[in-house]
Amino acid sequence: MSVAADAPTNEPRFYDRLFIGGEWVAAKSGRLIQTIDPATEDVWAHVAEADADDVDAAVDAARQALRGPWAGFSPTRRGELIAALAGLMRRDARTLAEMESRDNGKPLRDTLGEVQRAADWLVFFAGAADKINGLQIPYRPDALAYTRLEPVGVVGAILPWNSPISLCSWKLGPALAAGNTVVLKPAEQTPVSLLEIGRLVQEAGFPAGVVNVVPGYGSIAGAALAAHPRVSKISFTGHHATAARIMQAASGNLKRCSFECGGKSPYIVFADADFERALSVAVHSAFRSTGQSCSLASRIFVERPIYEKFATAVADRASRIRVGMPFDERTHIGPHSSAEQRTKTESYITLGKESGARLLTGGGRPEGLPRGYFVEPTVFADVDNRSRLAQEEVFGPVLSVMPFDDEDEAVALANDSDYGLVGGLWTSNVGRAHRVAGRIEAGLVSVNTFRPVHYMLPYGGYKLSGFGRENGLDAIREFTEVKTVVIDLATALPTDPFAE
Ligand code: NAD
Repeated sequence: MSVAADAPTNEPRFYDRLFIGGEWVAAKSGRLIQTIDPATEDVWAHVAEADADDVDAAVDAARQALRGPWAGFSPTRRGELIAALAGLMRRDARTLAEMESRDNGKPLRDTLGEVQRAADWLVFFAGAADKINGLQIPYRPDALAYTRLEPVGVVGAILPWNSPISLCSWKLGPALAAGNTVVLKPAEQTPVSLLEIGRLVQEAGFPAGVVNVVPGYGSIAGAALAAHPRVSKISFTGHHATAARIMQAASGNLKRCSFECGGKSPYIVFADADFERALSVAVHSAFRSTGQSCSLASRIFVERPIYEKFATAVADRASRIRVGMPFDERTHIGPHSSAEQRTKTESYITLGKESGARLLTGGGRPEGLPRGYFVEPTVFADVDNRSRLAQEEVFGPVLSVMPFDDEDEAVALANDSDYGLVGGLWTSNVGRAHRVAGRIEAGLVSVNTFRPVHYMLPYGGYKLSGFGRENGLDAIREFTEVKTVVIDLATALPTDPFAE
């Protein structure tokens, strides 16, 4: 189903400054990136493009702030500043959301929600800033031993295009709470809202250089950040192949890395599940954000007795999702973020058709939307779990539904994947709930709900989905070094083995 209303038709806007060392500076090359509004296919913004020299300047600024004013801030004051940033984001939620919707095509009602949630994330980490304790260790009766959790240093935060504001708060919150400074590298497709975050950082009163924003291409600005000798840590969200390149570049100075990569998340429905609840969560879990999220339910496994009924019902609901313009409040899902992304989705739809999977709904472009990178929500049944459609991350609105016969087979199918980010099962059997939750190879498993992504809950991948954890207090660990301090309290002269 498609809906159409006008998107804003403003002339292209210019964001021709980078945010470095608390100032708005032109890119050294003078080059600009064009960003396309994926709902209209028009250029909507021209953004300053950072290259290696600009990244170098940003890292210098971050380094100076780390050793200078930021180091003198008490943890409580750091937390206050993070909370102030959250407050400003809430104040300017509409502006931020509009920028993100223009950049990546998500419905405004989604981006408005994301900005509010991003602020919640910052508030959580603001509160954590003065609760980052080391441990006292009972090493010897005549010694005092303890650990200090110290900032890692300058953090390079490299972000994807699908949820820039959310994912930026996932990184900024814990990194700043732990006393690090940050160079943010937005995705080249979606830099605008993060430049706006730079403006709010400035308004909140952070010292110059604590947060820097350098939009640029991955192979230039991203690669420079990953290889930079004075960056101590890379926190990356994106594709696992990019993570592998970053790991190589980061090896020069043994940077700490954490990677949040893709997923092919299993959603297992047992015959004893509450059918209606499992159904109503399934469709949103598979198609929200036009399928462009790493944690969506892209493989639904259904126990044979209810398989046909469930697959048909999912397809029926999917066919009623309203695909439309991001600024139309009736819209459920918008376009793909880019022409490349739509081409990729369509290639998987072709693969599905050729593989003999049963197309239940979708598979084409929606009517009434002649421009924009739209594709219909698409459901295939009887997909072979070994096929590319079931194994590879589509990152589009394409769902595979498959049957299983028993618990062992469900677990085997779920785990037969290179990814391991999120998994979920639906059952009314408590023993099975715990058994299967324990056996699914994923960093976040849910029972009778799906994808409970929340600032309190550690989140991250197994296997190709990455390593390291974001969210929850575990995220703080990713941004701290443990220093062990031992103080000898003894009065007796230490023995000198060399004196004998
Ligand atoms: P991508 O890996 O192509 O790009 C991500 C970022 O890396 C961009 O900023 C890009 O400019 C930069 N980059 C590219 N090449 C680089 C290089 N050589 N060195 C340094 N940086 C480089 O990913 P994408 O297409 O923007 O995003 C989609 C992917 O992100 C999907 O695989 C998706 O699953 C994943 N993702 C994961 C999560 C998560 O939390 N696990 C969340 C969102 C997206």
